[in-house]
Amino acid sequence: GGDGDGGEKPPPQRRVLVFPLPFQGHIDPMMHLAGVLHARGGLAITVLHTRFNALDPALHPEFRFVPVPDGVPADVAAEGKIIDVILAMNAAVHDALASALAEEDGGAACLVIDANLLAVQRVAREIGLPTVVLRTGSAACLRCFLAYPMLHEKGYLPSQESQLYMPVPELPPLRVRDLFQTKISSHEMLCEVIARINETVRNSSGVVINTFEALEPAELEKLRGELDLPFLLAAGPLHKLSSKKTTGSSLLHQDKGCIDWLDTQPVGSVLYVSFGSLAAMDSGEFLEVAWGLVNSGHPFLWVVRPKLVQDCDSVALPEGFEDAIKGRGMVIQWAPQQEVLAHRAVGGFWTHSGWNSTLESVGEGVPMICRPNAVDQMMNARYVENVWGVGFELDGELERGKIQNAVTRLMDEREGAEMRERAEVLRRKVAECLESSGSSQIAVDKFVSYILSL
Ligand code: UDP
Repeated sequence: GGDGDGGEKPPPQRRVLVFPLPFQGHIDPMMHLAGVLHARGGLAITVLHTRFNALDPALHPEFRFVPVPDGVPADVAAEGKIIDVILAMNAAVHDALASALAEEDGGAACLVIDANLLAVQRVAREIGLPTVVLRTGSAACLRCFLAYPMLHEKGYLPSQESQLYMPVPELPPLRVRDLFQTKISSHEMLCEVIARINETVRNSSGVVINTFEALEPAELEKLRGELDLPFLLAAGPLHKLSSKKTTGSSLLHQDKGCIDWLDTQPVGSVLYVSFGSLAAMDSGEFLEVAWGLVNSGHPFLWVVRPKLVQDCDSVALPEGFEDAIKGRGMVIQWAPQQEVLAHRAVGGFWTHSGWNSTLESVGEGVPMICRPNAVDQMMNARYVENVWGVGFELDGELERGKIQNAVTRLMDEREGAEMRERAEVLRRKVAECLESSGSSQIAVDKFVSYILSL
């Protein structure tokens, strides 16, 4: 030691803690954001993770992992309903987290949390740790959350059957049916969860949204006016910004065999079909989808996850289905979705319109058939059809003839070709926001400077 060494010691590496909500659509964007902060910002990362839907630290050797007892009771974990898990975690996380944070000796600069984790934010506040919220949905969705009290005062919510197609002029282009809603929990419970999200957002030091400026310019501008926060950054699509592969955070095994099969298919010929990690259908609808796909005559890659059919732990394909597709279709349990959408053989995506799936499709210029069911999926589909013009909704009862028509409309007809062209324009905008001086890169730079200023 002493003065004679010459040279200054490099400053200690700043550390950021991240705490995702343990569901696929929330974990992936958080892990990508962490990857970007690590790779581009040179920041050290600690992932606080739960036993429920636990991540495998071995797959992320560049990060430190600290397990946090999540307080999710076994029956709630087995059911896996997102709202119940959110409520359980918020009720139980306090003491467990306080001791985990006390053990983390890194002197972290800040904690990046999912917006659903108000209880985590409270613990961080107690120890003087600033929190930044990652919103894994769209900017439009966050606007809808913030507008929830108004939507009730004005009588849009709880929605009534007769008003579903009524426009909501405060949130254009949404109609009542497009507002954030859920069928699986009570309205009061949903209001409570959204009120907490809003409180978490308002109490934060800033918000990062997984969207990009050119996709939702008006929504972002309005949000910046509505929220008085030090920063509100559009840093998406995070999966494109990060060099990390999602395989490390996939909760189900991704069947890579489908890529070899896609390699054998003509360019733009395959319809990729997946309804995300949570959506489920009844067994009658499942049959209609199966035969609608067969009858469409198009090659298809269909993700049938083990719990896709309600009240059924393992799904059986209908009799005669395998013979009928004659190698023209492939069914797998879980796909490497980003690779699939980027594959040249894929020409369309039939999706449940989850935000991650929507962004992943937009990022590869793939037009969509939207079959939204709940939460933010209705509004995502509305934007796909009405604002970006890169797909259309398939609504009403699922019936094989309608499905066949929808596939033809997207894959063979002029209208579908126009959607594909617009999707290509949008894909180029994604590429622009990812360039070195693109809007999402600038957003990341701002976020890193904020962290380094702490
Ligand atoms: N996904 C995947 N393989 C599949 C289906 C989905 O890896 O077979 C990924 C997909 O790439 C996306 C996430 O799971 O990142 C689903 O998130 P989304 O927001 O679309 O829907 P959610 O599952 O939350 O309803």
